[in-house]
Amino acid sequence: MSAQVDRQTGLDALEQRLAEDLSLLELPAKPWVAERTHDGERVRDVVVIGAGMCGLAVTAKLILTGINNVVAYDAAPAGLEGPWVTFARMETLRSPKTLHGPALGLPQLTFRAWFTAQWGSEAWESLDKIPKQQWMEYLVWYRNVLDLPVRNNVRMTGIAEAGDLIALDLEGAETGRVYTRHLVLATGRSGLGGFAVPDFLDGIDRRFWAHSADDIDFTALQGKRIAVIGAGASSMDNAATALESGAASVDLLIRRKEMPRINKMTGIGSQGVVHGMHQLPDAWKWKFVDYTAASQTPPPRSSTLRVSRHPNARFLLDCGIRAVTQEAENLLIETTQQPMRYDFLIAATGFKNDFSGRPEFAALAPHIRSWSDGRYTPEMGAPREDMLASPDLGPAFEFREKIPGACPMLAHIHCFNDAAMLTHGKVSGDIPAVSAGADRLVRGITASLFAEDVETHFASLIAYDIPELQGDEWLDSTPLLNKDNAL
Ligand SMILES: Cc1cc2nc3c(=O)[nH]c(=O)nc-3n(C[C@H](O)[C@H](O)[C@H](O)COP(=O)(O)OP(=O)(O)OC[C@H]3O[C@@H](n4cnc5c(N)ncnc54)[C@H](O)[C@@H]3O)c2cc1C
Repeated sequence: MSAQVDRQTGLDALEQRLAEDLSLLELPAKPWVAERTHDGERVRDVVVIGAGMCGLAVTAKLILTGINNVVAYDAAPAGLEGPWVTFARMETLRSPKTLHGPALGLPQLTFRAWFTAQWGSEAWESLDKIPKQQWMEYLVWYRNVLDLPVRNNVRMTGIAEAGDLIALDLEGAETGRVYTRHLVLATGRSGLGGFAVPDFLDGIDRRFWAHSADDIDFTALQGKRIAVIGAGASSMDNAATALESGAASVDLLIRRKEMPRINKMTGIGSQGVVHGMHQLPDAWKWKFVDYTAASQTPPPRSSTLRVSRHPNARFLLDCGIRAVTQEAENLLIETTQQPMRYDFLIAATGFKNDFSGRPEFAALAPHIRSWSDGRYTPEMGAPREDMLASPDLGPAFEFREKIPGACPMLAHIHCFNDAAMLTHGKVSGDIPAVSAGADRLVRGITASLFAEDVETHFASLIAYDIPELQGDEWLDSTPLLNKDNAL
């Protein structure tokens, strides 16, 4: 039997076990949301924008909870959602292979189950970290085995209020308007405001620089002097890719005097953090996130070694950038050490939560209440710009209005991505706690949909008339009562 057939047999058996588990748990739950129409068309209960890991987990959880009139749209083609096989330039995930990720408490839905079904337990034991390509393949399987309603190559381009509904404009494989009661933005790290780019790159021609999440033609960097800003995971991945593609030299320009070495939040990871962080007083939330941002997450050891093994790589510490000037054929970078010339610069400077940075959020952006709108107070600690810009979310990840009544649909738009971290903890972006985040979000949407339809549910209660007792189970003994026995 060929290895391919063996793998398929293993997967078939896994899928059979998963189906049995779902049946034992009576999942998916029976649909229970009342139907709504708009201009004669059925309205979606929930639309999810983004079918990366977070969007898939939420879509799956909604369906398992009996909210099945949902759809997830993704601008990317099927199998190319998220960073994994697009701009992620690491070889493996940073996360340990054992994390249950988006499995939603179902053992057969874990990466481990998927892997061992195909390659066996010995291969599992010898697997170190998960290759990024394999993680993407797992996500594709996850979507297929649960038969999730994902539509690819569809970009959401606009959001508008339509009475108590939300109207979404779509472009691509599906065009026009769809209406929904709730909207989940699972749009990922780059999905809310785009790239964070330092001011010193303003006006510099794009042929001299790229953001680390850009589609970079690394072959064109052969023989070139490259600068990479930063000391995070993406800095290492991009530096390593440039080196492996034949760059003449790569300098990592690192503002800090020392490399960050301790992964603080991962170090204290626990179910306490997952379920307790969002219940803490705001001052504590601020303290945790501020401290983590200040101490910075180190790049993974393997990614750092992938760079340092090249003799033409340099780690330049205490080397902040003061200014960048474009010259005829290169960049002149004024650093806190000395001026230096490079042919190309890669800004591994992350993403920002700037809702006004994306045209599809134009109708929402001015109304979204952020932590700077009164939730933050100076007693919490020093102000930090990106934290102040974090949306001030409600318990179901819903946005809040800056001015009450100015944009009521925000109460039905749920921010299930990295921007939620300050309010909700790390449950809507990274692999470790995405199932807990999806669970919290879906409980919130469930409660909201139920409350909005409470009259319908009460009417169903009144109308329900299927007897459990047939009337032949007892005799009415009242007429036989002996009045003399009365007390
Ligand atoms: C390079 C890199 C490596 C990472 N490695 C790890 C790791 O090892 N471990 C870990 O725990 N986390 C890691 N993360 C963090 C996190 O797990 C990933 O960012 C993950 O992809 C988050 O999933 P997501 O669904 O939130 O976003 P994404 O996977 O980015 O998915 C968002 C989707 O939304 C779609 N979209 C956005 N806007 C629209 C629109 N208007 N219309 C339609 N579709 C839209 C996009 O096409 C995209 O497919 C990494 C992140 C990056 C960037």
